[in-house]
Amino acid sequence: MMLKVPETSQILAQDSAAKTPVSLIDQFGREVDYIRLSITDRCDFRCVYCMGEDMQFLPRDEVLSLEECARLVKVFVTLGVSKVRITGGEPLVRKNALWLFEEVGKLEGLNELVLTTNGSQLEKQAQDLRNAGVKRINISVDSLNADRFKKITRTGELDKVLRGIQAAKLAGFENIKLNTVLMRGMNDDEAIPLVDFAIEQQLDISFIEEMPLGEVDHTRESTFVSNVDTLEILQSRYPLVASAETTGGPARYWQVANTSTKIGFISPHSHNFCESCNRVRITCKGELFLCLGQEDKVDLMPLLRNYPDDDQPLIDAIVDSMAIKPKGHDFDLRRAEPAVIRFMSHTGG
Ligand code: SAM
Ligand code: SF4
Repeated sequence: MMLKVPETSQILAQDSAAKTPVSLIDQFGREVDYIRLSITDRCDFRCVYCMGEDMQFLPRDEVLSLEECARLVKVFVTLGVSKVRITGGEPLVRKNALWLFEEVGKLEGLNELVLTTNGSQLEKQAQDLRNAGVKRINISVDSLNADRFKKITRTGELDKVLRGIQAAKLAGFENIKLNTVLMRGMNDDEAIPLVDFAIEQQLDISFIEEMPLGEVDHTRESTFVSNVDTLEILQSRYPLVASAETTGGPARYWQVANTSTKIGFISPHSHNFCESCNRVRITCKGELFLCLGQEDKVDLMPLLRNYPDDDQPLIDAIVDSMAIKPKGHDFDLRRAEPAVIRFMSHTGG
């Protein structure tokens, strides 16, 4: 397929001998080479920081088909994207999700296919996902106490997730990372037990600060735990060595000395990461969001559906979207209303 390179766009033509013909550069000079694609807004859990108790999910015809997802990822890869994270909602509750992983796993030019999951389906699916080419996997675990786990997820079974983690370990992923959101009065005393578990199981772990995405049943300010405080608690317990590793995102990493475990802190509030942002997000409706914390978006679904055999309109829209990628997010916990109306499960975490 020939790529049109629009004169006015921020797209950079590169050495024709190189594998990647073009790259996506935004108005601030940031290169976008990482997409997060949400393949469903549905989930078998209802985590209290992520969803309200009664969620209305989208009708199926308003959600991208798996074929449309595959086509979209392929187009992004021709535009220089080398890393794709499949997320949701819970991506592994989508019927036939494995087919998509297999299709994306075959794409030439893609270096990293990764997944974020709540772990509930991993016991059954971990090995197939690994075989499909998923390199690394993030599994959300907010508590190691079964009752608390149930309270936070509203429907989740800790045991099932722990079995999923064991299945993932056996499947041989290059890296497994736990994701934890600490909430005041809920699980804010679990930073050390969770890190102990990560060390014992030879996993990494990231602490994610709660973000004001969507309206939930508590005020975000009332439960917010700063990563500055979590780091202090962990530093008093473990020898931590700052790591230079960066994924271009909000995470900062520390190595627990004499272990294989790295601790990440994803701190949109206490550490602003926007300067080095290298990613965009695509919702399960095909909305291309240029920033997790802003409303700027381009609707790709009409282009997918109106031009089933022509990728050029899609390519033009993606290239032009670089002009509206905002400089940064605007999260403020003290605001009564959420910074962004949509839930994380809609945008994809
Ligand atoms: N269902 C999968 C899971 O839980 O890992 C993937 C989707 S979930 C939206 C992705 C990540 O976003 C999870 O690690 C979850 O803890 C996090 N998350 C959801 N809502 C959040 C919020 N309001 N603030 C911070 N993190 C959030
Ligand atoms: Fe589901 Fe993940 Fe949101 Fe929890 S955080 S409700 S598991 S999408």
